[in-house]
Amino acid sequence: MKKRLSSLYHPPTPSYNKRGRLLIVGSVAFDSIQTPFGKINKTLGGSASYFSLAASFFTKPSVVAVVGDDFTDKYRQILEKKKVDLSGLQTAKGKSFHWGGKYSFDLNNRDTLFTHLNVFEHFKPKLSARHKSASHVFLGNIHPKLQLGVLSQIKKPKLVGLDTMNFWIKKTPKELAKILKLADIFVINDSEARELSKEHNLMKAAGKIIAMMKKNPILIIKRGEYGLLMFGKNQIFHLPGFPLEDVIDPTGAGDSFAGGLFGYLSKTGNHSWQNLKRACVAGSVLASFSVEKLGTQRLQEVTRRDIGKRFGEFKRLTHFDNR
Ligand code: AMP
Repeated sequence: MKKRLSSLYHPPTPSYNKRGRLLIVGSVAFDSIQTPFGKINKTLGGSASYFSLAASFFTKPSVVAVVGDDFTDKYRQILEKKKVDLSGLQTAKGKSFHWGGKYSFDLNNRDTLFTHLNVFEHFKPKLSARHKSASHVFLGNIHPKLQLGVLSQIKKPKLVGLDTMNFWIKKTPKELAKILKLADIFVINDSEARELSKEHNLMKAAGKIIAMMKKNPILIIKRGEYGLLMFGKNQIFHLPGFPLEDVIDPTGAGDSFAGGLFGYLSKTGNHSWQNLKRACVAGSVLASFSVEKLGTQRLQEVTRRDIGKRFGEFKRLTHFDNR
């Protein structure tokens, strides 16, 4: 009998079978990436691509985004093969979003070489009735105005996630402040958390960011290879990064994390603090695979069995007995 993926990790919770409907708005892009270990030109990228590939191991995510007429079937099929719902992916006249980035030797620092928004400049998402009824919504890294535009169309979201990046923190602070007040879970990396809060210390930064959000939100600060900090009501969870020997390309690690996190939460329908911790592990497992090859290649080839195995390794890595 085929074993359900989540049953590899923990016994089913009572709400286990309430599969939510997961919607992601974000960029679907061409990425041109240079790392000390390789180079790739115009490969499939974008926050919604990484997110949906990662989430597809748990559920059937729907993507809302726009691409240009240069986005051929070859790229579309990568997502379709993983059963990602692309009925909300519009094609507009013009060029697809194109991003270029270059990493330094320690892979923790990257320079954005260019960001060509192209067809995203004029994108006005209009959701179908099915998409409007999504239970779990992730507002992936894209213009906060678009994030707002999508969220305002969702009828009764049970859980709203949000991501952003330095580009939007600098360019659109007012719109970002608006959408921050509507998110249940905000996922941000450490340097962006410092930039947004104007605070170097991460504990202080977290306090300031939480004050910008609605009451009792969840804040997850990603720390690259050092793992993450999750802040909830009067509690903090710290998870290390999975120790890897081969890190080739960190692009999309954050989006893969968010995809694993939200895929897991929508699959289990359980938003308790304990399940949020498991979802963080699921996200970290997906992110750890994502960085092992250039672009989305590793996410395309990894199997559910690989994911289950690494989840178990994560458990052993972080467990200690208090006797
Ligand atoms: P991450 O490494 O998690 O920050 O995500 C990298 C992905 O974000 C790449 O695949 C890019 O295509 C995409 N990206 C980069 N800049 C932007 C931006 N300003 N808006 C939306 N997506 C972007």
